[in-house]
Amino acid sequence: MPCRFLPRAIAHAALILPALAGLSLTSSEALAAGEAPRVHQPATTQLPVMDLVEVAPGVHYVQGLSALGSPENQNFISNAGFVETSRGVVVVDALGSPALAQRLVDKIRSITSKPITHVLLTHYHADHIYGLQTFKALGAKIIAHEGGREYLNSETAKLRLQASRSELAPWVDGNTHMVEADEWIRELTVLDIDGVRFELHPMGPAHTPEDLAIFLPDRSVAFVGDIVFRGRIPYVGQADSAHWIASLESLLQLPIKLLVPGHGPMSDQAREDMGLTRDYLVFLRESMRQAARDLEPFDEAYAATDWSRFENLPLFKVANRMNAYNTYLLMESEAQ
Ligand SMILES: [Zn+2]
Repeated sequence: MPCRFLPRAIAHAALILPALAGLSLTSSEALAAGEAPRVHQPATTQLPVMDLVEVAPGVHYVQGLSALGSPENQNFISNAGFVETSRGVVVVDALGSPALAQRLVDKIRSITSKPITHVLLTHYHADHIYGLQTFKALGAKIIAHEGGREYLNSETAKLRLQASRSELAPWVDGNTHMVEADEWIRELTVLDIDGVRFELHPMGPAHTPEDLAIFLPDRSVAFVGDIVFRGRIPYVGQADSAHWIASLESLLQLPIKLLVPGHGPMSDQAREDMGLTRDYLVFLRESMRQAARDLEPFDEAYAATDWSRFENLPLFKVANRMNAYNTYLLMESEAQ
């Protein structure tokens, strides 16, 4: 069976690209605008701000930039969080470079001197994992969904790291390496870590095969990685949308009040955000299914679809047509 997942470098770049509109000038654009040329010195330029945001008592997160990873931003393009327990700290996701992970450690140290005991991963995308070695060196136990194992040992992951070592130098370099989880889980796993209950809900295959949602029932908080997009058209890529929808349905059964996504700000409207991503995926599949069955050409099916429910959402123009096309292809293959 052909793999329905895009190579991750492509999938993830496409996830972030639409957010580029607000970026400042690149150095070549600045040159074109008449500025004096600047020598590239990432180590001395101002690093992106990393502020702690309190989600609930004892639960914090830091929010990555809406940008592509670059030497200027240390690859700070994804979120990470942490939860204080009675005897330690449990981190969720490891950020996109060891230097960033160290900055997160410093932030944690500004709140508590307790040891960092665990890292829980929402998925194995590069910008969420290149900081893992920093936490591993501190003795943290890494827990992830076993779907990530295949990617971790794949040629795609090696090539991605190779490319990142030059594109993101000096923050990602020859010393940066991928880190295996110490414990791979494959089903719903409930952990009591020093008095705090963590529910690890496998969600993949959705955005990735290994998506994991981490729910803290005592705080009504969930870290959901990249399976919920807030107030915008989702980036679907070639994901398994049927399973993604089913995963969102199961998440909606949980009493989640506060949601921390893998990118962008946290939400206190968790149900609305989960529902929007689900409704959009359902609509894509329903509108493209009949067309694919009837062998109606995609362009005609797209033009004949009433998109009015979603067309006012941010990134509709950037993402919707490609999402629809990928779904059309998926419906063709599911019909066979
Ligand atoms: Zn991501």
